[in-house]
Amino acid sequence: MDEADASGALMGAPDAFHCRGCGGTTMRTVLDLGLMPLANRLLRSLAEAAAEPRHPLRVVFCADCTLVQIDATVPPADLFADYPYFSSYASTMVEHARVLAGHVVDREALGPGSLVVELASNDGYLLQHYQALSVPVLGVDPAANVAAVARQRGVPTRCAFFDAAVARAMVAEGLRADVLHAHNVLAHVADLHGFIEGIALLVAPEGLVVIEVPYVRDMIDGREFDTVYHEHLCYFSLTALRTVFAQHGLVLHDVERMPIHGGSLRVMLAHAGAARGTRPAVRALLDDEHAAGLDRFDYYARFAEAVSQLQGDLVALLRRLKAGGASIAAYGASAKGASLLNAFGIGAAMLDFVADRSDVKQGKLTPGTHLPIVSPADLLARQPDYVLLLTWNFAEEILAQQAEYRRRGGQFIVPIPELRLV
Ligand code: ZN
Repeated sequence: MDEADASGALMGAPDAFHCRGCGGTTMRTVLDLGLMPLANRLLRSLAEAAAEPRHPLRVVFCADCTLVQIDATVPPADLFADYPYFSSYASTMVEHARVLAGHVVDREALGPGSLVVELASNDGYLLQHYQALSVPVLGVDPAANVAAVARQRGVPTRCAFFDAAVARAMVAEGLRADVLHAHNVLAHVADLHGFIEGIALLVAPEGLVVIEVPYVRDMIDGREFDTVYHEHLCYFSLTALRTVFAQHGLVLHDVERMPIHGGSLRVMLAHAGAARGTRPAVRALLDDEHAAGLDRFDYYARFAEAVSQLQGDLVALLRRLKAGGASIAAYGASAKGASLLNAFGIGAAMLDFVADRSDVKQGKLTPGTHLPIVSPADLLARQPDYVLLLTWNFAEEILAQQAEYRRRGGQFIVPIPELRLV
């Protein structure tokens, strides 16, 4: 993308910004979080923390095509070089993937002669389930460390930033995907059109594209502003997705709303000429989005105020607990967590540390707030009075994992969608 130069500097005013979907320039601001650190860049030392870069983070709405997006792009190589997120650390994700693979194998009658490709295949958390059902797979992931983990578990994985050129090279090798998955990646892609063009090239003429994206409607309605970070460039409605995919000859086939990640869309697409047709759920959700106003700015205009109210409530609660002598920590050194803590100005004055199950993160410092990341065992050893649950989207799973902490009298503060103590 030409709007970010090699030094990582960002473009200037929103009027210089061209919509990632349609190229339009009529942008209206939905939420401005100011200067924020990179939410996935965990720090190894306080010295590294001292030189930590911050970039503007602002959500805008395109009045031309309705796409909600951030109007800044940090170069992808800076963001993904050592991506710390391994999907398999979240049991909910693995189970979600297992159910989906079984469903798609049945629905598409896949077998040993088929090929399932996943873009941003991470550590093979999804493709492993196809392999278990004897369906050949190929992963593509830009992060060398996660691609290596996938290969170690036997999932063939190419390390590449997928785009039209990568797709052409794969097609030239004789590869065409009967099913092509792209889960929780579309929102992260700086070259949105190159990525979708690649999808259109790689998927077989009668093939199926399965996209999962966080749903902008759940973000707005559930005050999930912590979904906003630099890696997360677009916030999709079905209406906006339809427009951007149509430019590459891909049409909506089916859609389903899912609770995962605080509310997501699973969208199935096919070539415009394919024999699949459009399921009634697509028309129903498009109509529903129009009725709810997702194609108009007014729907998004109240978001900033709702976020600022949540900030007031959460900070007041933490201050009250702190004033009463309580010790408070946090759980989940996630990108969401970094976004929430930095946007709300909650740091070392309130929180002693952040516990996380991922041993890749333990021993490092959180972005912006520079809190030490410790293991769940350390959480039990130190037994703070309260724990702010930053990965609230996995609340059920984490509350079950940390049952011992609660048995010993500890309480979780769940900030989103409604602030509550459990
Ligand atoms: Zn647009």
